[in-house]
Parts: sequence; structure tokens; C-alpha cells
Amino acid sequence: MYGKLYVVATPIGNLADFSFRAVEILKQVDLIAAEDTRHVRMLLQHYGINKPLQSLHQHNEDHASQGLVDKIRDGQSLALVSDAGTPMISDPGLPLVKLARQHGIEVSPIPGACALIAALSVAGLPTSRFSFEGFLPRTGSARRSFFEHKLADSSTWAFYESSHRIQAALEDMLTVFPAEHQIVVAREITKLHETIVNDQLAKVLEKVQTDENMRKGEFVVIVAGREIDTKEDDLSEEQQRILSLLLKECSIKTAVALAVEITGQRKKLLYQAALAMQDAGRA
Ligand code: SAM
Repeated sequence: MYGKLYVVATPIGNLADFSFRAVEILKQVDLIAAEDTRHVRMLLQHYGINKPLQSLHQHNEDHASQGLVDKIRDGQSLALVSDAGTPMISDPGLPLVKLARQHGIEVSPIPGACALIAALSVAGLPTSRFSFEGFLPRTGSARRSFFEHKLADSSTWAFYESSHRIQAALEDMLTVFPAEHQIVVAREITKLHETIVNDQLAKVLEKVQTDENMRKGEFVVIVAGREIDTKEDDLSEEQQRILSLLLKECSIKTAVALAVEITGQRKKLLYQAALAMQDAGRA
């Protein structure tokens, strides 16, 4: 008889967020595979759990997973945990879960905290469709081209960011997105200094730039999808022609800024028309 693999979510800050079932399962299994064994030991001690631990992180999971699967095939039950939140969500676990499935091992989720879902649940933005981008590219130029690519996204989207890069990421975003674009920065969720800021991009960035505390801790950023309620047809033919010409020569942000100057038309309308032109490949 094969054992079972449990994928167990752990708290993202507040230890009380550990589920009863997660504690029960960790008490039952033969072995716990953990991203950082020292880190998880503190959590286990808190709940009086004393089990053998094996380290499984991004640098060893490709080869260590086979040994763990062999143990499960020998009848042992195993729990996979990461440092915080749900394994596999910007965390290790894929090689183990994939291999276990390939061997016909039962893989069962023990759900719980996830920073992404916690942030989405309080953002006040539509969630019937959303996308998750994980961590953004680290260099400014790669980040800016990523943001260019996301401009046209009409559904809510989210990314994880560290304290070292939150300011630079939002500054890069402002070079591409309109200052008024709605975003939510969720910082230190479930912890003592939990802060959820829901405002226009430029205003949120100003808070991050001026308040040192807003650059500390862990962050999830949720971004509103592009509004699609106004149409390109709301512009006159001449305004469309000017915008289309400008889009051939400059970035969307510059083209829109120049079009506002030239035509006197509303920026929001021009932005949406520019995105529609890009989508239709006419810019
Ligand atoms: N697997 C985890 C989950 O389920 O949320 C995410 C792991 S990922 C390596 C760590 C990132 O998640 C952090 O850099 C931060 O962006 C986000 N994060 C984790 N805990 C958070 C918290 N309490 N508040 C805000 N963001 C958090």
C-alpha cells in the first residue's frame, strides 16, 4: 500500500491561522518535507508536533523528490509545507507533486492561508476572472516591458513583491500605466502592521515614497483590469487619426499625453482608444 502526500498550507504571519486539520495531518504523517526546516520547526513546536523533517527547496527539489516518492511508495505518508502559505504558489513543490501523480500516489490538499487570495479577498476589485503574475522581473527594463504587456489586460491581476523592490516596481509601473489607475497594495497581511492601501497608482506610490513603513515587510499588489466601457468610436475621426499616428512613433503613455495636448480630448478616453487600437493591430 502506498502512503499519501499531503500538501499543507501554513500561516502567512498569524500562527492562529493554522487549521485544525493541518495540525492533525502533521501529527499523523511519517515525514514532513519543508522548504526551511529551521523555520518550520518553530511552527511545529508551537503546536507540539514532533516529526522527522527533510529539507525540500528550489535548489534540491529536482533530485530530492524522487527519494521522497520512493518513501511514499514504501508506505510512508508525507506532508509538504513551505515557509509560509500554500506550497506551489511562488513556492517549491512542483517536482514532488508531479512525480507523485506520475506514480499514481494520492495527493491531497490541506488548504489554508495564501497571501494572493487573502489580498484579493479585501481588494474590492472584481475577482470573477483574475491572473497571478508571481514575482515581477528584477530589472527595470524587463519590468517596464512586462507592464506594457499588462496594459491591455481587462481582468484584475496580481503580483508578489519584496520590500527591496516595491518602490521601484511602482515607479516603473507609473512610467507605463496612467497615474489614476486603481491598485491595491496589501502589506504584512495578518501581521501586526497589516496595511491595505486602495487608491490610484500615483497616490499609492507617493505613500510608499514618503512613508518608510510602507517599504517594510511583504507585499501583494492587486491591479484593476482595464476599463472597457468606452469605445474608440467616442473619438472624432481626426482624433483617432492623430492618436494612431502618435502610437506608431511613441509609447502608449507618451502618445496619449501628446494626444491630450493636441486634441484637448479626455485622457481616459484616449487611453482606452489607444489600447483598443493596439489590440486591433492598427497602431
Ligand atoms: N506560498 C506563499 C503564499 O501562499 O502566499 C507565497 C510565498 S512567496 C515565496 C512569498 C511572497 O508572498 C512574499 O514576498 C510576499 O510578496 C507574499 N506574502 C507572503 N506573506 C505575505 C503577507 N503576510 N503579507 C503580504 N504578502 C505576503
